[in-house]
Amino acid sequence: MPKKKVVVIGAGIVGSCCALRLAKDGYSVTLIDKSMPGHGCSFGNAGGISSSSIIPMAIPGIWKKIPEWLFDREGPLSVRWKHIPKAFPWLFKWLLESRESHAKYAAHTLSELNKDVLNQYKAILGEEEYNRLIKTTGHLHVFKEKPVSKGDFFVKSLRDDIGVHYEELYGEDIRNFEPSLSDDIRYALYIGNASYTVNPHLLVNAVVKKFEEIGGIFVQDDVKEVIASEAGARVVSRVNTHDADFLVVCAGALSKTLMRKDLDKVMLENERGYHLTLMNPSFMPNLPIVSGDHKFFSTPMNNGLRLAGTVEFSGLSSLPNWSRADTLLSNAKSIFPSLSASGSEAWVGDRPSFPSSIPLIDVSPTYKNVFYAFGHGHYGMSGAPGTANIIADMVSGNSQKVDITPFSYAMHC
Ligand SMILES: Cc1cc2nc3c(=O)[nH]c(=O)nc-3n(C[C@H](O)[C@H](O)[C@H](O)COP(=O)(O)OP(=O)(O)OC[C@H]3O[C@@H](n4cnc5c(N)ncnc54)[C@H](O)[C@@H]3O)c2cc1C
Repeated sequence: MPKKKVVVIGAGIVGSCCALRLAKDGYSVTLIDKSMPGHGCSFGNAGGISSSSIIPMAIPGIWKKIPEWLFDREGPLSVRWKHIPKAFPWLFKWLLESRESHAKYAAHTLSELNKDVLNQYKAILGEEEYNRLIKTTGHLHVFKEKPVSKGDFFVKSLRDDIGVHYEELYGEDIRNFEPSLSDDIRYALYIGNASYTVNPHLLVNAVVKKFEEIGGIFVQDDVKEVIASEAGARVVSRVNTHDADFLVVCAGALSKTLMRKDLDKVMLENERGYHLTLMNPSFMPNLPIVSGDHKFFSTPMNNGLRLAGTVEFSGLSSLPNWSRADTLLSNAKSIFPSLSASGSEAWVGDRPSFPSSIPLIDVSPTYKNVFYAFGHGHYGMSGAPGTANIIADMVSGNSQKVDITPFSYAMHC
């Protein structure tokens, strides 16, 4: 019997993992991206990969911090005022998601999705590639003072509840751990079982290579339209038309543009973030350092020290505000006083985000052959392999190993 055909749109970390898993399951898979693999949001993120990536963005009491963040030019949150009317429904829903019961639900859901991520990457990459690309050093979250807000206590209770192991460090113990840190850092949280990739772009490419080795086909083409029917799906791209039995949409922040707007509607927004990768930095920390005050990572990558994070609501088509990337450097200097570098590269990317921080992983309510896998927000590197397993079981009609209710379309529209 000929193999059934699947087209996966989007060769970011999510689409690549889905394509590989479906090819392993015996489908004839074509992975399409308008760029080369891993050039979307998966290119320049902070590289954090962890089963303890479970804290949703909306947590109790967060609304109290928003005014302070918005009026601080160097703060972790920025909004283009022109974009507010468009983003308002999303922002309003986001505030509703900060209720304790909702945030708890999101954390437990993310924990289920991400809990086996390292073993999953080991199985995907093989031992050698895994050891080359992923390091398990733990993450160190650093603060000027021990955080004591309602939200901070809530985050602690979530970690305790879910069983995330951490160690609290004070004063000089912090510098014994990471000597480059400023004396102003008086409190830190070491999360030991957390990992990171030394280069997220190379990680996506390694997954795509595995996919191609087992017969998967990558095509660079810009998808213009998706025409689904009872029998399958037709993908109309700039160069070619691709017919398939099944279609999986993994186009990250752009996924919404590929949905039938009149039928399938979801509340997806892009949370823009920036990175500044410092070339030949004066030192490399031993592990990713997360600034709890300014909300960004400093990750020792294989091509420099990457400062990455912050959130900007500005829509998909606005020009980047590169001063947000420069701000990362001034904030990093307040953590690492002796930091200098020979040069830097700035990058901007759009996180595909839902107000709940839970991705959409489901079949379209309109067409039974079209599947959606997007909206991984701040945690796509951790959630991609688990997402691929859910999608593969959905496409094949197998029973699911996890409760998929939280990922359903009904929870995201
Ligand atoms: C600053 C920053 C730091 C981050 N840090 C972390 C972190 O430490 N850990 C973590 O887990 N996550 C992190 N994230 C989030 C993470 O990067 C995302 O969740 C993840 O990359 C999303 O992957 P994706 O495959 O869904 O999307 P993408 O990587 O954006 O892939 C989508 C792909 O679809 C393609 N596409 C879109 N439309 C079309 C079309 N019409 N035709 C063809 N192709 C199309 C795009 O070209 C793109 O390659 C961070 C994000 C940012 C911005």
